[in-house]
Amino acid sequence: MLGFFAVYGNPITHSKSPFLHNYAFTKLGLSGYYSRILLDKGTNLRQNFLSNGLSGANITLPFKEEAFNQCDEVRGVAQNIGACNTWVLEDKNHLVGYNTDAQGFYECIKEYKIKNALIIGAGGSAKAVAMILQSHNIPTTLINRSVQNLSFFVHKGFECYVNSEFKPTCSYDILINTTSAGLNDNLLPCDESQLKELCSCGKYAFDLIYGKCTPFLALAQSFHLSCSDGKEMLINQAALSFELFCKQKYNKGNLEIQRIASFMNEIL
Ligand code: NDP
Repeated sequence: MLGFFAVYGNPITHSKSPFLHNYAFTKLGLSGYYSRILLDKGTNLRQNFLSNGLSGANITLPFKEEAFNQCDEVRGVAQNIGACNTWVLEDKNHLVGYNTDAQGFYECIKEYKIKNALIIGAGGSAKAVAMILQSHNIPTTLINRSVQNLSFFVHKGFECYVNSEFKPTCSYDILINTTSAGLNDNLLPCDESQLKELCSCGKYAFDLIYGKCTPFLALAQSFHLSCSDGKEMLINQAALSFELFCKQKYNKGNLEIQRIASFMNEIL
């Protein structure tokens, strides 16, 4: 038995992770089962994980920082992000944390040969995107509607602006919307005139929101930028987590990310 897995969050009913992981288990003939767990804020994530006898988990909003703080070891880019979306239990009691959002994003854009990037937004997903771009030496600027969340990025050495003070002076190869503007409304993530200026000299637009054409992507399309929504990133992060879950107990050499991702893509 490969084990039991789950995604933690609050809310969690919308999560597509159980479909993706269970479908991949079935397609690969692996005896794993993946469910979703609604965790009340204030409940101890680690204790819940261990008492449920899980072998691994994904962790989503608002528990990614807690997941970072409560594991025994943090590996990879998660160390710089300060948030984990994946836990793997090694050797009964050793809980290892990873962040697959970051690499999941990078897999989507690595073919583009990007020289520089502009991230709109400064929340949790912006941290993952910014840190993976920095790890690949891609100069990255951040803008956000408010100043508070920018401090993390200032400390990490990024050029940062509050939207209202940002004057787009240089062209960015890729514009990345990491805000939730456009998710449940028709808002742009920053001022329309700023975006038009940016789109007039950009090459790519990437919105982390998936399953709809946001106002941000619609505007970018009207300027003929090459556009992507967040679906591929979602699948990539799931496939990367899946590989970590399986590697632990079931070291199959043929579990490449691309193959897992293509299975997951069949049902999303
Ligand atoms: P957070 O809540 O951590 O951050 C939200 C960010 O959006 C903040 O910078 C916030 O600004 C900004 N923001 C919110 N509303 C607006 C608005 N109306 N106008 C301008 N800025 C706004 O969220 P996450 O970073 O975790 O997630 C952001 C989005 O990314 C969500 O839509 C989520 O679904 C998506 N996502 C997709 C993933 C994928 O795999 N495709 C993975 C992770 C996230 P402020 O700091 O001022 O509050």
